[in-house]
Amino acid sequence: MTTSEQEIHLKGAPVSEGIAIGSLVFLTYSEEKEIPEFPISRAQVDGEIARYREAISSSREDLVKLQLDLDGEGAREVASIIGTHIEMLDDPLMTTHVEGKIREMLKNTEAVFHTVIHDYEKRFNETTDSFFRQRLSDVKDLSQRVLSNLCDSHRASFENIPPNSVVFAQELAPSAPLQTSNISAFVTQGGGGNSHAALIARAMGIPYVSSIDMQVLESAKGKQVIVDGLTGDIFINPSRLTLEKYEKLKLRLMKQYHQLDKDRDLVAETFDGYPIYLFANVSTANDIDFIHQQGIQGVGLFRSEYLFMQDTSLFFDEERQYLIYRQMFKKAKEMPFTFRVIDLGGDKGSQAFQEISKESNPVLGCRGIRFLLRRRDVFKTQLRAIYRAAVGHSVRILLPLISDAHEFREVKRFTEEIKRELQRGECIFNPDLPLGCMLEVPSAILVCDTLAEESDFLALGTNDLIQYSLGIDRSNPGMSDFYYPTHPGIIRMIKMTALEAKRFQKTLTVCGEMASNPLFTALLIGLGVQNFSCAPRFIPVIKRTVRHLSFINACAIAEHVLTLKTSSEVANYLTESL
Ligand code: PEP
Ligand code: MG
Repeated sequence: MTTSEQEIHLKGAPVSEGIAIGSLVFLTYSEEKEIPEFPISRAQVDGEIARYREAISSSREDLVKLQLDLDGEGAREVASIIGTHIEMLDDPLMTTHVEGKIREMLKNTEAVFHTVIHDYEKRFNETTDSFFRQRLSDVKDLSQRVLSNLCDSHRASFENIPPNSVVFAQELAPSAPLQTSNISAFVTQGGGGNSHAALIARAMGIPYVSSIDMQVLESAKGKQVIVDGLTGDIFINPSRLTLEKYEKLKLRLMKQYHQLDKDRDLVAETFDGYPIYLFANVSTANDIDFIHQQGIQGVGLFRSEYLFMQDTSLFFDEERQYLIYRQMFKKAKEMPFTFRVIDLGGDKGSQAFQEISKESNPVLGCRGIRFLLRRRDVFKTQLRAIYRAAVGHSVRILLPLISDAHEFREVKRFTEEIKRELQRGECIFNPDLPLGCMLEVPSAILVCDTLAEESDFLALGTNDLIQYSLGIDRSNPGMSDFYYPTHPGIIRMIKMTALEAKRFQKTLTVCGEMASNPLFTALLIGLGVQNFSCAPRFIPVIKRTVRHLSFINACAIAEHVLTLKTSSEVANYLTESL
């Protein structure tokens, strides 16, 4: 491909929505630059170690400052990732191990540090465990910061990025979106929608498209570029027509965002008065602060496993879990709090348990409730902590990946046993926590009448439901074309679940990404869904969509969609009706 003045159109995988128009900049990581390497004498060792400690301390100061600035801007998700980086500075890998190696290798600090990180990379590059791959990318990111504090020549090239740059890179370090406000969009070759960099870009509203081949763009540096983070479209040297179209679209989006902020205090109901209940999906204790924004009814899904990913010692520490949960429930005040018990396995692997770490096909393996039923020690510790911490709070326990009613019955029996044990131990606890099933595999949907009858509430995890129904890996950016939320089979399953929930008078909440996408709002309401749980950032747009709908129209949309035969027919119809 050439980069003459002709427009070049590329299609990537959308990661973070929004439109950017800027100039193309390639990012070279400092790791690609030369690292100075020279021998030192024994007498110089203490001086090198002191220099290393100073670099660690400066890195800590940089991160704390970054975290404080971010907190001020309200980007709490991001602040918690920076928190992880701060904790990692105390990791033996970063402290005693490097210092020991300086003594052993008798080389300058930056060369030793680089070797240590390189060895670590080699070890973890081979793992397919997504948690450890994420940790590897955090370590790489952090090592860049430490290296930049060790040698000035090694500063990341972010500093020279001019304003309004669209940054193209092979892959992004997790903290990349935080380095400078000059970046208006990211485009990468690797890295999927679940990477930390993606999460941060979304939290900060920076458009991001991945799966673009960088090689074809070598001579496009400095050219004008348009990035559409919603569709994955990229235009280099856009024609006048394309540019005008995107300038208008960008303006319209900005107006919409502005309007959304104004709607914050309005209730979520259709214009003919049908109420919709909006809940928040949260993954960290900090996220809970968001739920007190007007219009959010409570926590619809707390993904508790994230607490354990950074700290595996927590699995068996009931007291610490109790303190963390109690603090979270207090933050939620009187609002309902749906607590999903540890959903480990699949794409949220852990080396901490042999059951999970050795699997060849983890998505179909020991995950969700299967893991907890096998590892009763882990499950019991968490359940005891929840029952104890929930005193005076409205907490519901949600069970991930239930596929058969016997699993639900077994959990119910187990919770009764735990409650008896708490009673015998004269512990203060809340015995009345509703138990709900998360429906995210087709078998659960097919028996949702039994599950609706026996459990206290239901939640639809559409992310996994699509993955398991269509047999498509939800974490593979290369296959995202085949991940069809609009598949008629998925729509029928949602309908079935809503009908059974209604028949047995149990609440049903949709908490997968479909709930966050305005394209599906009318359809879901028409299919009988009244509770939506989404990442807090999407609540204003869903509320706005609800307020512009009539219930009658939503029912008509759902009725029509149920007659359509293919996912593209459904997608086209929903796009038109939106
Ligand atoms: C889902 O599967 O839709 C869901 C909400 O759970 P998670 O995304 O955490 O797997
Ligand atoms: Mg799930």
